Amino acid sequence: MSGSGGPAGVVVEAAPAGSGPTPDDWAAAESLLRGLSADARVLLICHVNPDGDALGSMLGFGLGLRSLGVHRMQATFPGPPEVPEPLRGLPGLDLLVPAIEAYPDPELVICFDAASESRLGELVDRLDTAGAALVLDHHASNTRFGGVNLVDPRAAATSVVAEQLLSRLGVVLDAEIAECLYVALTTDTGSFRFEATTPAVHQLAARLLATGIRPGDISRRVFDTRPFGAVRLFGEALGRARLEPAAAGGRGFVWTWAGLDDLARHGQRPYVLEALIDSVRCTAEADVSCVVKQTTPAEWAVSLRSKGGVDVSRVAVALGGGGHRFAAGFTGRGTVEEVVDRIRGQLDTAVIPAAD
Ligand code: AMP
Ligand code: MN
Ligand code: MN
Repeated sequence: MSGSGGPAGVVVEAAPAGSGPTPDDWAAAESLLRGLSADARVLLICHVNPDGDALGSMLGFGLGLRSLGVHRMQATFPGPPEVPEPLRGLPGLDLLVPAIEAYPDPELVICFDAASESRLGELVDRLDTAGAALVLDHHASNTRFGGVNLVDPRAAATSVVAEQLLSRLGVVLDAEIAECLYVALTTDTGSFRFEATTPAVHQLAARLLATGIRPGDISRRVFDTRPFGAVRLFGEALGRARLEPAAAGGRGFVWTWAGLDDLARHGQRPYVLEALIDSVRCTAEADVSCVVKQTTPAEWAVSLRSKGGVDVSRVAVALGGGGHRFAAGFTGRGTVEEVVDRIRGQLDTAVIPAAD
């Protein structure tokens, strides 16, 4: 259970990080959904700045509920109601409404891929105003903030949990549901490259592909397409990357940053920077990689990654954020140098001792 499959001897947190939903949790979630009246309003919420897993698991689940006859349903997320361009081809986008239009007091609220209430932004009040709250997630740091919580830290993506629940409800996967869940699964497994890519992940991918979806088209659209301005912007940001080989107990730290003026100069929207970390984390000489992305004049969205030598979720949690052991983030304030200094200050304590 806890710790197995990862680097040996690792103790991350006192919580039973490896344990997934109990049979009672599954039964409670099922009965919430089966008990909905014909006119019940259902509100689906995913985390702020939604990624492929957040939107894909939410919309895939929503389409599945629709196939069961749930017809009063909205999907939403906090913050600006802008869907990142690579995700604008997702089926089920017609379910989306801006946060400001979301049902104020739905019979049921379902949260996707959000580790804590803070990831729900201004929509957090729905946890109180809704008749019931169901949480679907896979972050080890999840605070179990729903009335019913289906949280499986071993799941590669929230979509894995979503598909299990859909299957229990008797939903038959169609190509639209499958495309949403496939985007979610490929986003969070780095297209089946990360450690969480188990045989069960490939079996789920096989079930999804069997609906006839086209993985080449989907991957090109979601991962391999960006505006020329973003290509140039990435060049500049990579050109000022810094390598600190002695940091993180000698495991090495590489980082770079991008500001609002960079985005403006290249005519780009903030979400184009989400993929920048994938180019930075290739650095052979560093275990830990980081991209600091300006979101307002004094605020930065920070992405942290590790190749397995450092528990970056510890760094992120210490600085007010969260995430997974090897992929985490937080909101930084002040200058880039101040934000990076704070990260440096946490790296040594987050180093994972080498296995004997
Ligand atoms: P990102 O670097 O944005 O792709 O995020 C990597 C992981 O860290 C994801 O699992 C996020 O849920 C988590 N994460 C990122 N930013 C935050 C934040 N401000 N607070 C909590 N978790 C975060
Ligand atoms: Mn996510
Ligand atoms: Mn996820």
